[in-house]
Amino acid sequence: MATLTAEYKKSVKKVPVKGMMDNVMEQFNSAADQINLHPNIKKILSITNNEIIVNFPVKMDNGDVEIFRGYRVQHNNALGPYKGGLRYHPTVDIDAARALAMWMTWKTSLAGLPYGGGKGGIQLDPSKYSQGELERITRRFTFALADNIGPEHDIPAPDVNTNSQTMAWMADTYMSTRPPAERTANQHVVTGKPDGSGGLEGRDRATGFGVYLTIKFWAEKNNIKLNGKKYIVQGFGNVGYWASYFLEQDGAKLVAVQDASGSIENQKGISVADLFAYTKAHKGSLLGFPNAKVLDNDDFFATDCDICIPAALGNQITAENAYQIKASLIAEGANGPTNVEGENMLLERGITIIPDILCNSGGVIGSYFEWLQNRNGELWQLDEVMVKLEKKLKESFENVYKYAEDKAMDMRTAAYCIAIERIEKAYVQRGIFP
Ligand code: NAD
Repeated sequence: MATLTAEYKKSVKKVPVKGMMDNVMEQFNSAADQINLHPNIKKILSITNNEIIVNFPVKMDNGDVEIFRGYRVQHNNALGPYKGGLRYHPTVDIDAARALAMWMTWKTSLAGLPYGGGKGGIQLDPSKYSQGELERITRRFTFALADNIGPEHDIPAPDVNTNSQTMAWMADTYMSTRPPAERTANQHVVTGKPDGSGGLEGRDRATGFGVYLTIKFWAEKNNIKLNGKKYIVQGFGNVGYWASYFLEQDGAKLVAVQDASGSIENQKGISVADLFAYTKAHKGSLLGFPNAKVLDNDDFFATDCDICIPAALGNQITAENAYQIKASLIAEGANGPTNVEGENMLLERGITIIPDILCNSGGVIGSYFEWLQNRNGELWQLDEVMVKLEKKLKESFENVYKYAEDKAMDMRTAAYCIAIERIEKAYVQRGIFP
């Protein structure tokens, strides 16, 4: 178990938090050096293929028109159509979309899927809009993206503050604007749809289940029992909730949670079902949850625990707080939650990180199953989905774990190396047009 020492505290330098793009590029460059990536391929993968910015008007409930700005960045499609989520959050901008799109390229490649990487969203705070306004914003955004997305070209999915309802509106808008004969053949333009509208049974839990599985696989490799282990979760949305749900079933104890509204702690354990019911009844917020004490947000990562699951936003674990972390394992449910300086401090302290592109890849694997189901006109059962998901994640985890052991490197660098080597192979075989 990692402990906090006075030396570590003293050694902390105040390093400014860099943007996510700096982070993903540093991670990419370091892996590229490890595998001696051909300079031409390095050039191609260092840039994004397409960056789409759309400004569009939406009529608000009070009759006023508001202008929104939406982004879709398509990083690379050497392995297949662009794939990645759409996020509705005040932090969405072109830089965040670029970084998140790149992460998707590595993630889909690592998982062995026939996809490239894309990401996007709208810079807004959804809590400020009614359900009707969010529906009109989503439909108009889909219309503005028009032919830049498509079931064989670029396939969005849910991300922070978007969900199966958002995807249902997107699918309906996209299909409604196609010629009649093409409409129903286009429902796989987005994944993460509700299960009554072409969605996959179990897609809701796929990411969190994957986070849990990678923790379980790591624990098995290290002869650690999850029963009785304490874990903390940042973000109690789709990913944080489902990861907590499965960990609790294995006897692990949720001791602290942070969401956008604040932080809570109870070292005796927080019931996942009770907290879920509470947040559902309180607009997604944990504020005021009875069976826990309120924790200062700045103290959250210092909470006594064995496993830490950042499942909210990027750049959360940095040099500012990495020295405080007591967990011996970080399982990255979110995309890019640990920056390079934070990661270096954690690795120096012997803390293991299951990197985002492996840890949260259950989501995109579930999305791939949904896409296949729609494309082939099939309907898969929940138990079948969960078995397939576990098989695919086990393969990915074993590949990364072995690569890291063989080459004596951390799991993130290993995951990047595997992902980049697969893309490099496609370029070498195909060559560069013309
Ligand atoms: P969500 O919208 O369902 O939940 C987000 C949670 O984060 C909420 O509890 C919110 O209160 C909390 N949050 C927001 N801002 C915060 C802040 N400043 N501090 C602390 N908590 C904050 O989103 P999600 O789908 O669970 O996604 C969470 C993360 O997982 C994102 O980084 C996303 O990119 C990543 N991810 C999601 C999926 C998926 O399938 N949904 C797949 C892979 C990766």
